[in-house]
Amino acid sequence: VSRSRNSQREGAEPPAPEPLPIPVADAHCHLDIMGADVATAITAAAAVGVTQLVTIGCDLPSSRFAAEAARAHDAIFAAVAIHPNEVGDGIAEGVFAELTALAADPRVLAIGETGLDHFRTEEGQHRAQEESFRRHIALAKELNRTVVVHDRDAHDDVIRVLDSEGAPERTVIHCFSGDEDFARKCADRGWFMSFAGNMTFKNAQQLRDAARIVPAELLLVETDAPFLTAMPFRGRPNAPYLIPLTMRALAETRGDDLAELCGTVAANGQRAFRMPTAA
Ligand SMILES: [Zn+2]
Ligand SMILES: [Zn+2]
Repeated sequence: VSRSRNSQREGAEPPAPEPLPIPVADAHCHLDIMGADVATAITAAAAVGVTQLVTIGCDLPSSRFAAEAARAHDAIFAAVAIHPNEVGDGIAEGVFAELTALAADPRVLAIGETGLDHFRTEEGQHRAQEESFRRHIALAKELNRTVVVHDRDAHDDVIRVLDSEGAPERTVIHCFSGDEDFARKCADRGWFMSFAGNMTFKNAQQLRDAARIVPAELLLVETDAPFLTAMPFRGRPNAPYLIPLTMRALAETRGDDLAELCGTVAANGQRAFRMPTAA
C-alpha cells in the first residue's frame, strides 16, 4: 500500500490474537517503517503462529534493510524494489544497479514492491512508473525471483503490463483490491492474491466477495504492517503478529475450516516465494 508514514500508527498496540492452529507466513510487511525491534517482532509473530515474514523494499535504504534483516534472521525473507510512488521521473541507473546486486542475495526471494499506483501519482508520472514496473519484471525473470505487485486503482494496466512482458513464474498481487472479475483474471493467469486487513473493513464487501472466489491454492495473507490494521483495531499500529485477524476473516468469509485454510496458505507461501519450510 502507499506509505502515508504516520497516519495509521496512532494509539496503543492491539493485544495478541489467539494463535493460529497451523503456522503461516506474513507475505508482506514493512519492518523498517514499523520501526520496531526486529527480533521482538519475530517473537511476537511466532507466538501466534506467524513464523515467516517477507519484509518489503520501497527504495534503496529499505531494500538494503530488508536484505540485511533476512541475512540476520532465519524467519525473515526479503523483497527489494523501488516502490511505484518512489519512481518519480525515473530510476537512476546507479540505483537500479545496486538493486540488481541486492536482488542476487539468496535471502532476497522477491522483487517488490513494484507495480502501478494511479491513486497517488500524477498522470505525468504514469509512463515512468510503467517503465520501472517493466524493468522490475525483467529483473525478477532474469534472477528467477518472485515479483510482488503493488496495484492501486490500476488493475487493467497491471494486467496489460504483466501480460505484455510475460509475468514471472511466481507473481503475487499484494494487498489485493480488485473485484471478483479481476480475481478471476488473476486466477486464470496463476497469480497469487494476497489479502490484507482492509478486507475486514466494513465498506469492503467487494473485497470479501473477491476473496470468496480465489482458488485456495492461490491465496496468501499479509499485514502490510504498519498499515491497514484489521478490524476491530483499524487505525492502531499493525504488525505481523496480527495476521490471525485477517486469516480468521478469510476462513469465515470463504466458509473454510481455519486449520485447513492455514495449511493451504502456508504451502502457498512456500510455493509463491520458494521459502523453505518453517523450522
Ligand atoms: Zn503496496
Ligand atoms: Zn507494502
